Amino acid sequence: MQWVYIRPLRSFGDRRMRTVYVNGEYLPEQEATISIFDRGFLMADGVYEVTSVLDGKLIDFDGHAKRLRRSLGELDMTNPMSSDDLLEIHRELVRLNEIDEGLIYLQITRGSDGDRDFAFPDPETTAPTVVLFTQSKPGLADSTAAKKGAKIISIDDIRWGRRDIKTVQLLYPSMGKMMAKKAGCDDAWMIEDGYVTEGTGNNAYIVKDNTIITRHLGNEILHGITRAAVLRMAREAQMKVEERSFTIEEAQEADEAFTTSASAFVMPVVEIDGVALGEGVPGKVATRLREIYLQEMRNAAI
Ligand code: PLP
Repeated sequence: MQWVYIRPLRSFGDRRMRTVYVNGEYLPEQEATISIFDRGFLMADGVYEVTSVLDGKLIDFDGHAKRLRRSLGELDMTNPMSSDDLLEIHRELVRLNEIDEGLIYLQITRGSDGDRDFAFPDPETTAPTVVLFTQSKPGLADSTAAKKGAKIISIDDIRWGRRDIKTVQLLYPSMGKMMAKKAGCDDAWMIEDGYVTEGTGNNAYIVKDNTIITRHLGNEILHGITRAAVLRMAREAQMKVEERSFTIEEAQEADEAFTTSASAFVMPVVEIDGVALGEGVPGKVATRLREIYLQEMRNAAI
């Protein structure tokens, strides 16, 4: 007897089917496919970017496009398209999916030459895989999570040594997020050689005596696009900024703390490893920086 597998009708709940982009085509999400031999799937051999959308416009697109080019270059991957073409695809997906507030996820992998091998395929004959999709997130800017502030746990940073490249190797950050959830918290800050590197998906900051302290750039952290914008805005607002390492103990004694990322902007932190910061509510500096960031970025959105 021959078995025929009938694919069940997938339930997508109330969420409407998205139009996604795969290698030059705009397709309904249920029709979009890539090869099982894709190196993104087999080797985590790929890079990504997440760009937020507010009022139907892209936030800091140029920053994300620039970092994408750098990530591709650091991994000797072919850059498959110009920033103008990428912008066009981002905008088309926003339009097709009627995104007012949300995120655009972009992933580029080294593609597939139809087999599995540790050695990279010849870029002359194997094209990169390019995938983009939207995530609608109403209330992204007016976030209840940001009004409450985040509770953080600390965990060891056991990731690889090139965290400045935005690769799709996100297993350990996902595990960190689950460790935080298990502890009844929202996120984890990672510690290496006694110092905080960054959050699972964000850069980490403390505020002491009105000075904003965040780890200096290097291979140990991702060079956040939001980090660059927030530090520029803080300096323009005459706030003092120190780019240096800090410990969890120093963070627990800080007046306040926060994180930055393209998907959550400036997120106040109210508790670290069970110790409440200040009054245990979002701090003034983080709240002000969130306001400034959102306002400036909305004005500059494209
Ligand atoms: N650090 C890590 C490990 C991240 O994954 C992210 C964002 O995904 C960030 C920092 C923040 O970077 P950005 O502000 O560019 O979103």
